[in-house]
Amino acid sequence: MRNADVTPAKAGVQGISLRLRHWMPAFAGMTLVACAGGQAFPDEHVGAGAPDAPDPAEAADAQDRMAYDIAESLVAEVGPRFAGTEGDRKAVEWALQKLNVLGFENVRAEPVTVPRWQRGTIKVELTAPAARTLDAVALGGSVATPLEGIEAVIVPVATVEALEQVPAAKVKGKIVFFTRRLERTRDGADYGKAVPIRTKGASAAARKGAKAVLIRSVGTDAGNGPHTGMVRYEDGVAKIPAAALATKDADVLEQALAGGKAVRARIVITSRDAGMAQSANVIGEMPGTTDEIVLLGAHLDSWDMTPGANDDAAGVGIVIAAAHRLSGSKPRRTVRVVLFANEEFGLSGAKAYVQAHAAELPRHAVALEADSGSGAVWRLSGGLAAADWPWAQALAAQLKLEVKANDQDGHADLTELRKHGVPEIIPTHDAGAYFDVHHTRDDTVDKLDREGLKQASETFAALALAAAQRLESFGRAPVLPEKRR
Ligand code: ZN
Ligand code: ZN
Repeated sequence: MRNADVTPAKAGVQGISLRLRHWMPAFAGMTLVACAGGQAFPDEHVGAGAPDAPDPAEAADAQDRMAYDIAESLVAEVGPRFAGTEGDRKAVEWALQKLNVLGFENVRAEPVTVPRWQRGTIKVELTAPAARTLDAVALGGSVATPLEGIEAVIVPVATVEALEQVPAAKVKGKIVFFTRRLERTRDGADYGKAVPIRTKGASAAARKGAKAVLIRSVGTDAGNGPHTGMVRYEDGVAKIPAAALATKDADVLEQALAGGKAVRARIVITSRDAGMAQSANVIGEMPGTTDEIVLLGAHLDSWDMTPGANDDAAGVGIVIAAAHRLSGSKPRRTVRVVLFANEEFGLSGAKAYVQAHAAELPRHAVALEADSGSGAVWRLSGGLAAADWPWAQALAAQLKLEVKANDQDGHADLTELRKHGVPEIIPTHDAGAYFDVHHTRDDTVDKLDREGLKQASETFAALALAAAQRLESFGRAPVLPEKRR
């Protein structure tokens, strides 16, 4: 019943009660836009099969705690789960069991081949003008140094663009130190601007003859450990070792450089590539009455050196709890939870999913991902067909969310789906604290925002349900500009 010309504003918002009060006290009494064409969707079509619970208050409490409980369970029972490791294998088992216990249907693991990288050890020390050890981690995928390490003069630059202006003669044989600071913002938007020092800095420095790269951690904290994350080596450019300094130790290095004397450092990294390994995407569904799919995604893996409570056990908790809130409601479209393998080190799960599900991608109506920590959702953006944006804006208004724009980049795993036309609803979490612990050993359970997780799972449930119940078809996603793929 697609009608691109009928917007909620033109047609008058035809709301329907979806009995949200049973599972969503915060939105009790609200209605969701299900039909903009003047045809109300009968209440009996949903919610009729609300699960029987001996004590509704207890069940509601358990549902409210569920996103946190799931995230806590993944961290406590599995812990670090980097692609291809024993932790990764345990995480897949954990996820299968969790989805089965919670009553999901069609629960399965779909094979994904992942690259295996072992970080080994790292030592970074200032050797001149005074000796001092710095707290550092190798960036994910970094090549090793020679056994004796690399010792050289430090050349500071702010960003990759700034490095382009420096003559190669000043960089050749040196260690380039990228100093760009990540700014704390509510939507975390500075991350995208800051992160090229991590992803592209090594190849940019290698092109000018540098021996190694240090970066200021892409993090907003002043006292946590160093932040890892993937380095992307450009084809045809020498691969040089790359590491991140804890922000406080980046300050130490900057102070040393401000002294005016030559500053030297030695870096020893013993990382190695260890071939390929097997992992899996884990999938579970709340089946609908049509063959279309609303996909709720999160990633199951974490970096090796962190329990990954906010990245992304929180997202795993949010999407499972959100879909679970729809138990028994028999939505029009199937709500499919996909816990992607290896987001962190190359998006292996997202790529494998798109390959394995190529034939049914046209039936993926819309996708959402939770991968920005445990903060409450406060804004909505879109990667939707233009004709569907008014629907999303009306939905945001009902959920009291701000709106940004419909031309936004979404989450990493969904980029692969976007390339194939699957549209995306992009909830923005409060990410003010997220980058204090992101990709650090400090991303522990005590950093989870319990209230944020409850609100986020409610919001994802409301969005998923509205998308699953919508009578109109979703258009295909506009093609992302090439540079953003
Ligand atoms: Zn993540
Ligand atoms: Zn991450």
